[in-house]
Parts: sequence; C-alpha cells; structure tokens
Amino acid sequence: MVKFTTKHRHHSRPHRHRHDYHRHRYSYQRSRYQDESDEDSDTEPPEEEKRIEIDLLDLDGLREKMKIGIRPTSQLDHVATFLRRRYHGDRYENSISKDARIAFYWMEKHLTGPEIPTGLSLLRYRVLSSSQDDESLQITWNSRLDLEPEQLEQIEEDILEGKTVANLRRSIAAHLGVEDPNRVVISACGGLRPGVLQGSHWEAKSIETWLCRHLYIGLESPGNYVILHGLNQEYVYHPPPGSRSSRFLDIQMLKTWLRGEVITNVHQRSSSQIEVDEDDIRLLSKGKWLTKRSRIGLGAMVDFELSHSVEGRFLEEEAWLVPSTETCIVCSEDKRASEMPRRVTEACEHEAQTCKDCVSQWIVSSLDTVTWDRLRCPECPKLLRFEDVRQFASPEVFDRYDILATKAVVTEFRDFRWCLNPRCGSGQIHRDSCPRVKCHACKASSCSYHNVPWHSKETCEAYDRRTKKQRKNDKASEKRVKEITKSCPKCRRDVHKYSGCDHITCESFPSPFCSLSIFLSSLEWFCA
Ligand SMILES: [Zn+2]
Ligand SMILES: [Zn+2]
Ligand SMILES: [Zn+2]
Ligand SMILES: [Zn+2]
Ligand SMILES: [Zn+2]
Repeated sequence: MVKFTTKHRHHSRPHRHRHDYHRHRYSYQRSRYQDESDEDSDTEPPEEEKRIEIDLLDLDGLREKMKIGIRPTSQLDHVATFLRRRYHGDRYENSISKDARIAFYWMEKHLTGPEIPTGLSLLRYRVLSSSQDDESLQITWNSRLDLEPEQLEQIEEDILEGKTVANLRRSIAAHLGVEDPNRVVISACGGLRPGVLQGSHWEAKSIETWLCRHLYIGLESPGNYVILHGLNQEYVYHPPPGSRSSRFLDIQMLKTWLRGEVITNVHQRSSSQIEVDEDDIRLLSKGKWLTKRSRIGLGAMVDFELSHSVEGRFLEEEAWLVPSTETCIVCSEDKRASEMPRRVTEACEHEAQTCKDCVSQWIVSSLDTVTWDRLRCPECPKLLRFEDVRQFASPEVFDRYDILATKAVVTEFRDFRWCLNPRCGSGQIHRDSCPRVKCHACKASSCSYHNVPWHSKETCEAYDRRTKKQRKNDKASEKRVKEITKSCPKCRRDVHKYSGCDHITCESFPSPFCSLSIFLSSLEWFCA
C-alpha cells in the first residue's frame, strides 16, 4: 500500500523552525515504516531514499498546494485516492464528491495513462464535478455585479466566438451600465498563468491553452487604472487590491509591472525567453519621456516603447494570444494589430495599412534611391521623422541612417572638421587659427587647411612646396601614360602596355572572343 504524507508550504517560517519541522516529519515517517514491516515481516522495508517528494497543485487554485511523497511504483490512481480522502466530507469547503473525476496534468499535458512520469516534480490536478464535465470555460463574477443570466450567456457566447479582451470589456460595461470599459477587469483564475488579461487585442478564449477554465469578471472603482499604450495595443494596469492609495504612481513601479506582468508573462508554454533591462522600456506621456521624477496620476494614458530586440521577442511570445485581424496592402499577409504601426508618421492623415516589416523594407530600399532626409511614408507623401526611422528600421539600417543624418547636420557648421583617420569617424568643431586639428577621440592629427592627415615635420608652406613638385612629376607621368595607351575599340577603356607579360585580357570583355583580344592578340597589352 502506498502512503502519502502531506506538508503545506510555509514560506514565512523562519529557517530554524522549518528545520525542526523537517526533523519531526522525518521521524514520523520512519516510525510508520517500522509499523508496516512489523506487520508484514517477509517483505523488505522500502528504503527511505526511494520516496520522491513532489508538489501537488490544484489547477483551479481552489485547494492549497501540498508536498507529497511518492514511490517509483506509485500511480496516478493512488494520488487520486489520496486526494479523495484528504478532501472528504463536509469539513472542507472544496470537498471532492463521489461523482467527481480527477484529471492530472504534467507541464501543459493532460496525463491519460495510469503512470506518473519519471522525473516529475510538480503534478497538477483538476477536479471535474462529474463525468459529464467537459472542462469548458466557466465565468465567475464579483457578487456585487448585477448580471442577469441572459447577459452571462451572452458574455459566454462572445468569449467562445473569439472576442478580444477590449471588445469584452466594452460589452460587459454596456451590460453593467458603466460608461468607462477600462474599469472592467477580466482575469484568468487558476491555470498555468493566473491573473488579469491586460492586452486589449488578446483573444479571451485562448486562455484555455493556459489550462485555465475560470474567467473572473470584476469592476474597478472609477479611474483606478493606468492605460499603457504601445505596439498598437493597450495594456491596462490596475493597482493591486489593498495597495496604499496615492495620487501619483511611481514610474519605476510601472516599468516593473510592464516587465513582470506583461512582457515576460505572455508565453504560451515553457517560461519566457525574454530578458528585459531597465533601458529596454521607455515610457512617454504626451510625446515626452518620463523619468523617475515624472508624476503620473491614476486614470492617465502612458505610451511605452520597447527596444528593437525586446519588441521582436515579445511580439513572438504574445503572438498566440492575438488573432490576425488586419491585412497588409504591400505583402497582402494577414497581420496582428501589434504587427501594424498605428501611424507610419505622426503627420499621416490615414490609418496605416502597411505592416511594420514592409515599412522597414521600404526604408531600406528608399535609402538607396533618395537622400536620408527625403524618406517618405509608403502610403502618402508625408516625410518620415528621425523617430519613425528609429522605430521601424532594423538597428543596422538605422545606424546607417543615423550617420547620414548626423553628418548632414554637423557639416552645416562652418568650423566642423571630420577626423581623417580612416578607422575613427569622429569629428569636432575647430576654431583655432592653427591648422593642426587633434582628434578628441583617437588623438590623430589632421591638417584643416589641406584636408589631409597631418603632414608631420612640415609646415603648411613646406607641404605646399613639396607637393607642387610632386604634382609636376605626376603631370609628366600622365603624359607618358597617354603615349603608350590605346583605348579598347569596344568599351573605350584605356589599355596600357604591360611590359613583361604576354597575357592579354580585357576586364570588360573577359571572354576569349573579346574583340579586343583578337584585335591586340599579337601585342603585349593589358586592358586596365
Ligand atoms: Zn506587409
Ligand atoms: Zn502616410
Ligand atoms: Zn579621430
Ligand atoms: Zn597643411
Ligand atoms: Zn575592353
């Protein structure tokens, strides 16, 4: 026979007490085994280490979490029997009735066989009221809300039809006669990811994938929320119940909430792969960046932006929650609202119908054909701003754009000089009468008068004299080159005599049938 021992979690217990508690339990188990082997002396007493401790968790969150000890031979039936005994009779609010069925889950999988998978450390269970219970979604609501049975039926229908959270909030607000739909809170109870459904475009019924079957509907007091707007979606923050009511919210707290409750909390199965630094999230209000000292009151709307990499990963992890409701007019693919820009640029007088990927592609191809300051919206003649390019272009393309834009701006200053060290790329204002400019970044010197790397050990005059001579020599050699050059009859490129080599090629017409090769086949010529 298998025996189960239970232990409730007491996280708040100081370490010393917990130690005593363990010791006590240990001796208790030992004595039990002793009793067993006394009764049945010809079977070997099971070894202590053969008992495996696992967590037992109610998927619907109605019963407390327990630790139980199982043996390698234990089966799910044994755990079910244990649960039925544990929650037997009227003593418990959540007693398990005789007709009830108990289903078991490991990770997100429903366990159908009798075995407990090896390596399992957390076993989830769900009590189904009867064999007819098909685990379908159920709605519970705050008892103070006046919802008629027909209204609940309508809400249930809306959910099954695939309505988004924003649409549900609106229709529930209408049922309740409440003007502001942002006061409506829809939460998942139990399941793999319990908590409020914040995203306006999330499809409410997809929480079934989180093994959640209970949706809770509540109503916040007026204005007790902050709307975080970003990625063409709205995520509604509600202060946790019982939190100290303050007129202003801490910006840092809002960022932490966004990171913990939204960005890393939308993954479908295994835990989130997104790593978010503080710098990856920027909060803005009315176009201005919010700092630690900014003050945001309840009821406000705050915009947020994510760094390029975090945004990409978040959109991937959130994708399964957001149905595709839009179509891009460029690639004709069905897109989620979060994959579409709200506007391409602020000045656009139309809703964006081009997806973010296509706008990004559009910027790449436009940069090849127009100057950096003539980039336009793909749908209208409005010019893209610096911020738009930063938002839509990939980091590499944005860097290219940024350099072009910066160069253009600084070159307008008359005294601005670029560092001429090819490995540097820095520049600075030089107002000194001395022509030697020492780069602040790489310490290399350049001549601002001649626009060359600094001619060391020479003044500008000496440099002039020396280069004058050189230029004369260059002119003479140019003349000599002309005398021994013929142009290729086909491509008109200069062809030089190339002494010491019999090989004749033409780079423009490298095939053996190049007319030049035939024309010059008897000579020692080399087509440059
Ligand atoms: Zn597209
Ligand atoms: Zn436009
Ligand atoms: Zn430099
Ligand atoms: Zn000089
Ligand atoms: Zn040629």
